[in-house]
Amino acid sequence: MKFGGTSVGNAERMQHVAEIVAGHAQQAEVLVVVSAMGGVTDILIRAANEASKGDREHWKNARQELARRHREVADQLLPATEQATVLPRLAERMSDFENLCSGFSLVREITPRAMDTLSSLGEVMSATLMASILRSQGVAAEAVDATELIVTDDHYGNATLLLEETTAKTRQQLASLRQRGVIPVITGFRAATQDGYCTTLGRGGSDYSATIIAAAVNADEVWIWTDVDGVMTADPRLVPQARIIPEVSYREAIELSFFGAKVLHPKSIMPVMKKQIPVWIKNSFNPAGMGTRIVVAPVKAAPGVKAITSVSKASLITVNGKDALGLTQLVAKVFGTLSLEEIPTLMVTQSSADNVLCFAVHDADLPRVKARLEKAFELELLHEYMAALEVMPHLAIVVAVGENMKGTPGIAGRAFGAVGRQGINIIAIAQGSSELSISFAVQAPEVKEAVKAIHEEFHL
Ligand code: ADP
Ligand code: ASP
Ligand code: MG
Repeated sequence: MKFGGTSVGNAERMQHVAEIVAGHAQQAEVLVVVSAMGGVTDILIRAANEASKGDREHWKNARQELARRHREVADQLLPATEQATVLPRLAERMSDFENLCSGFSLVREITPRAMDTLSSLGEVMSATLMASILRSQGVAAEAVDATELIVTDDHYGNATLLLEETTAKTRQQLASLRQRGVIPVITGFRAATQDGYCTTLGRGGSDYSATIIAAAVNADEVWIWTDVDGVMTADPRLVPQARIIPEVSYREAIELSFFGAKVLHPKSIMPVMKKQIPVWIKNSFNPAGMGTRIVVAPVKAAPGVKAITSVSKASLITVNGKDALGLTQLVAKVFGTLSLEEIPTLMVTQSSADNVLCFAVHDADLPRVKARLEKAFELELLHEYMAALEVMPHLAIVVAVGENMKGTPGIAGRAFGAVGRQGINIIAIAQGSSELSISFAVQAPEVKEAVKAIHEEFHL
């Protein structure tokens, strides 16, 4: 069971989580993964950034805020004996925070490795608290740092899993607790390199932590407890009428999360897919709700579009090889460059006759993409063998997802028709041959209307 930031956001929520865990632990063996308390990771990252600019005031305030929030939970939920164990541990983490920020403000820089150690301190504190809350309510539990379980490469900030090492280490490290019937309360988000340096799994990575551990111990199911009733037909913040989808396939879940459905981390399906371990998305604010089940092949799958998602901060880049560079050369060099940098593309289209390649990336990646491509094509640009890179900013990518769109004629027509009737112009279109999704780019301010139009058109 993984509990996200809002689910462990304050004392009342943590108490509620303890009840959920204690209830289920009577019927099954439960392993727990927790995120940092809601907002804490943002506070940590911001404090580090401000510190590196030399601002000592900011992180001192952040320290107070962090100490207050965690202390409040201990005060409200823990008896004196547990407080005696937990408060010194929290104080140690706060001094880690202070030392790191102090270091950043002295050297005026943050190394990615130090940032990972700092940004995942929230998980260490929430796991310490949650294990203690469970113990104080008579449930045997112990906090476990995932740096002792999950092994990754050294791509700090968004590390890649080393599966075999992780499986062996996780099984070995958890064996004794499990044999003694003690519930491990594991820090989400964090992992470590083979040399033991702390890494993180990318923002929102606690979902991934949970599925990695589930796969390592061959769990029967993964339950992701969050703040919505399940995977919905659209982001409920964009479409208030969005409904819960009872069943989603692994492939649909991957597609939805890759294209912005924050409810699940994009990598989190990978570890459980091969072993066909079902994943449930459930609402910790409404535990009796049915939730969404993610499986290989949903039983009740209606034909057509199942859900709409969107990435609201995207840019389209056009690379024009003119007469000098053939499209194949262009594609090879562009994607070679992007892959070296591990930059994901959101959609790709091309015009073979004109030697023009067009692709969308997250705005956050844009400066890097531009710099790397300009370097890669330095000579061609200098000699004007190709046109300058064209960037169309402030776009959104809208994606309609559904495995059962395959072979059903007219779906794209209906989707584009619905968007067109709202007077929204479609800037680029892509549909893969698997027909799992249809993507298109619109101006960013029009994203909400576009999502709504398709949601209505398909009566979602
Ligand atoms: P947690 O802190 O539990 O990991 P997140 O905030 O990361 O929770 O993810 C849950 C949020 O994802 C929801 O509150 C919702 O706003 C957002 N979301 C976006 N798209 C969808 C979708 N299709 N279905 C459900 N939730 C979605
Ligand atoms: N706390 C981390 C984040 O905010 C990981 C997570 O919540 O899944 O990104
Ligand atoms: Mg999340």
